[in-house]
Amino acid sequence: MSLEERYRAVLQRVAKACEASRRDPSSVTLVAASKNQPVAALLEMYDLGQKEFGENRLQEALPKIAALPTDVTWHFIGRLQSNKARKAADAFDVIQTLESKAQLREIDKSCKVVDGLIEVNIADEFQKNGLSVDYVDEFLQEVLNSTHVHFRGLMTVGPALDDPEKMRMYFRRLRELGERLGSQWLSMGMSGDFDVAIQEGATHVRVGTALFGPRPQ
Ligand SMILES: *Cc1c(COP(=O)(O)O)cnc(C)c1O
Repeated sequence: MSLEERYRAVLQRVAKACEASRRDPSSVTLVAASKNQPVAALLEMYDLGQKEFGENRLQEALPKIAALPTDVTWHFIGRLQSNKARKAADAFDVIQTLESKAQLREIDKSCKVVDGLIEVNIADEFQKNGLSVDYVDEFLQEVLNSTHVHFRGLMTVGPALDDPEKMRMYFRRLRELGERLGSQWLSMGMSGDFDVAIQEGATHVRVGTALFGPRPQ
């Protein structure tokens, strides 16, 4: 399949999931998860109309950000070491993986304000990125006190399960937590399960392989 065919197929899946849940497709933002993909693939996706990209590593992202037009919205979706958080905030528009005070302290030294999502370890998995549900309330206060983060909502990766239906309860749990915390955005759902995530209220889906094909290693 060409990138264009993949892109059309993903947009169709988004539209179908929106229809099934009576949502306006404009309420769902497709974030192209472009880690390991070459700049040429991002440029081709951009030319097809894709304007939001998610990258996992700062060093990999910087040349891509420099190479693409300036109207792209860049989401940081990887694990963010605090010693790289200021530079990440300088380069990205959205940081989706907030989980520590040390990150916030560094982001507050940035030259600009970023939109921020708290990453939640929604299934309480051992050694998984993100905060346990129990710590999110307390950390939210820190995010709200940050001078350079505009709190937008919650993000989760969730467990890797064979059946997307099994993800539904986790997506629902994130939505309920988000509703309680006044979250506007919910970033959840990837190539295998974003349809279910949209039905459960995702505002942002992060899609890699379904858009680009298998990731080059
Ligand atoms: C790679 C990645 C994705 C996309 O995964 P696919 O299964 O390829 O769609 C989404 N979110 C995060 C945080 C990722 O690292």
